Amino acid sequence: MTDTTSFAQTFGREPEHRYSAPGRANLIGEHTDYNDGYVLPFAIDRRTTSWIAARSDRLLRVTSTAATPGDVVELSLDDLAPAAMNGWSAYVFGIAWALRERGADLSDKSGFDIFIDSTVPVGAGLSSSAAIECGIALAFNDLWELGLDRKELARVGQFSENNAVGAPTGIMDQSASLLGEEDAAVFLDCRTLDTAVVDLALSTNNLEILVMDTRVEHAHATGGYAARRASCERGAEALGVPALRDVGVNDLPRAEKLLDAETFRRVRHIVTENQRVLDTVDVLREQGPRAIGDLLVASHRSMRDDFEISTPELDLAVDTALEHGAVGARMTGGGFGGSAIALVDREARTTIANAVTAAFAAAGYAEPVLFTVHAAQGARAEL
Ligand code: ADP
Ligand code: MG
Repeated sequence: MTDTTSFAQTFGREPEHRYSAPGRANLIGEHTDYNDGYVLPFAIDRRTTSWIAARSDRLLRVTSTAATPGDVVELSLDDLAPAAMNGWSAYVFGIAWALRERGADLSDKSGFDIFIDSTVPVGAGLSSSAAIECGIALAFNDLWELGLDRKELARVGQFSENNAVGAPTGIMDQSASLLGEEDAAVFLDCRTLDTAVVDLALSTNNLEILVMDTRVEHAHATGGYAARRASCERGAEALGVPALRDVGVNDLPRAEKLLDAETFRRVRHIVTENQRVLDTVDVLREQGPRAIGDLLVASHRSMRDDFEISTPELDLAVDTALEHGAVGARMTGGGFGGSAIALVDREARTTIANAVTAAFAAAGYAEPVLFTVHAAQGARAEL
């Protein structure tokens, strides 16, 4: 149990502040973020908590229950630079660096002792990275009295992850973690960063989101993710648009003539996925969550067949959930492993979860980790 005692054991004094930020699941809109498109994530009721106390010097000293126990990593505010950071602590130090790079004057600020604990599974596609970044970003912004709004803090998180950590991610995760609300999703236009909170109304409809973590690891910073981004850039350039956001489903026949077959499939995923996000928002508003199942399934098929970022484990989780009565299901997150989500009736949850577990055992896959999530409030000060 991590609490103020653990902070005291590490730093020899009491914490003064506590901040938390959630991980996220993406309801729909995958790989659309870096194409200036639309996404519809929600913050989940799994959070990363930071206990903090101000220091009188310029040091940031940080430890995490996810790291080697007792291992405190430190960096002076005078030495902030990506080259001075590595490993998990770059997710913390990088925020201070990114704040400064984006204009905050930290020259007269003092440092902090920081103790981090999390219930967001790491590397499961639920953005433990945004959960750690966004809680820290909100804390630094408050405690250093920088006065930045949450949209700018999302940009700071992304800037840090891109440039201090070195992972080429979009703005979705940070936006969900900072802007999420209870039982609602965050509709985000990744070009303008305009957001709208869209009611999910799952609880009143007797629905839940079942997360099916395949426990197959993914590596964002490498390989597939970068290759997909490159394909999208290539497609946009060939089509003469700033980003694939500017291509509509009606433009696809022209795109098919211009692009090689693989690039076309990548483009088609992005273009149809953007449309599915818009449709999902409309359907949620007009008909409610029970009517979005087909859109979720179409999204999964598009990622499996056109974008080719699914895995056999994710496909099995999705197909098994659907066979056993899920309203809809799809992989979520960057792909190449991680988690799928299923929209399920509360009464059907156990049956579906058992069926997925049994299907994984029969296929000889590692046992999946299954749990339900609820849409939760974004980053906040806890005390
Ligand atoms: P995810 O899908 O979970 O966001 P990422 O690879 O983007 O996966 O981010 C995971 C990385 O974030 C971890 O390897 C670690 O470096 C860092 N991280 C996330 N949560 C924590 C935590 N609670 N404590 C320390 N580092 C963390
Ligand atoms: Mg991440």
